Amino acid sequence: MKPFSYFCPATVDEAIQGYGEAQETRFIGGGTNLLDLMKMGVERPAHLIDIGRLPLMKISPHGDGVRIGALISNTDAANHELIRTRYPVLTEAILAGASPQLRNMATMGGNLLQRTRCYYFYDPSYQECNKRTPGSGCAAIDGYNRIHAVLGQSPQCIAVHPSDMCVALTALDAVVQVKGPHGERSINMTEFHRLPGDTPQVETNLQSGELITAIDLPSIPYGKQSHYLKIRDRHSYAFALVSVAVVLDADEDGTMRHVRIALGGVAHKPWRATKAEKALTGEKADKKTLRAAAEEELADAHGYEHNSFKIELAKRAIVRAVTTVVGGQQNG
Ligand code: SF4
Repeated sequence: MKPFSYFCPATVDEAIQGYGEAQETRFIGGGTNLLDLMKMGVERPAHLIDIGRLPLMKISPHGDGVRIGALISNTDAANHELIRTRYPVLTEAILAGASPQLRNMATMGGNLLQRTRCYYFYDPSYQECNKRTPGSGCAAIDGYNRIHAVLGQSPQCIAVHPSDMCVALTALDAVVQVKGPHGERSINMTEFHRLPGDTPQVETNLQSGELITAIDLPSIPYGKQSHYLKIRDRHSYAFALVSVAVVLDADEDGTMRHVRIALGGVAHKPWRATKAEKALTGEKADKKTLRAAAEEELADAHGYEHNSFKIELAKRAIVRAVTTVVGGQQNG
């Protein structure tokens, strides 16, 4: 592993000043992804700023919604009463990810920044990876691409974002609070991550030296009516092949008034299913309507040799997840 300097600031401002203009600096929270990447030689920072002692560990009401400090662990967020009772889709999504040990260490801010699990990205013995080495090519396009993207990919990269939590945050319209050398700003969850385009190495719209300080959840009166469906190769400790977060409000007869859907495992960022949402709003949740909405959402999907199954899987997952929520609401 490349030698690195280590700095453990006490305040957010100290952390930001410590980052400076250094290109090779990384903030480290729980370290559950970054340390793996450093051991593999994928990340080679010269400076680590340990943000683990910063005062960003509170979950509290914020306006009509809830603010989650960036250093809250995934476990603590999932189990917090405000999250369990008002945003259960977030609890479900977090608990569907990783293992209890990892969730105890991983932070909310760090989860937002976890990097793809593309096999070729993780293994520097493969030289072709535009995300690791811009301009080198993409080994996955003609390689083994079972876990890769079917929506929003580019000829430069077909990797997917691995987080479950981020899929729920996208459906909930969360807002990420950041602070950097030029002050504070808010980034909507749908704008936080990027599609690969010509710069797959740039994964978020964070600017250099910006630190995530909190995640805000808006008030959603029907937030309890939700479900996170994760489809994976084994029941635990596996990334999603496809996942769906649904939050919706339906009448007793099954007519959907408000619909929020986000997909995981299909794109370089959590995929807000706006076409399906539009197709379902004001409609009854019958099989034909749900299937048509899912078809519309996946109409532009494109598969590769080993992952085309994801297109049909995503359609079925949308139908099943929405049916589950509407059914639960009618029975409840
Ligand atoms: Fe690298 Fe992206 Fe291609 Fe994977 S899909 S090899 S991360 S460029």
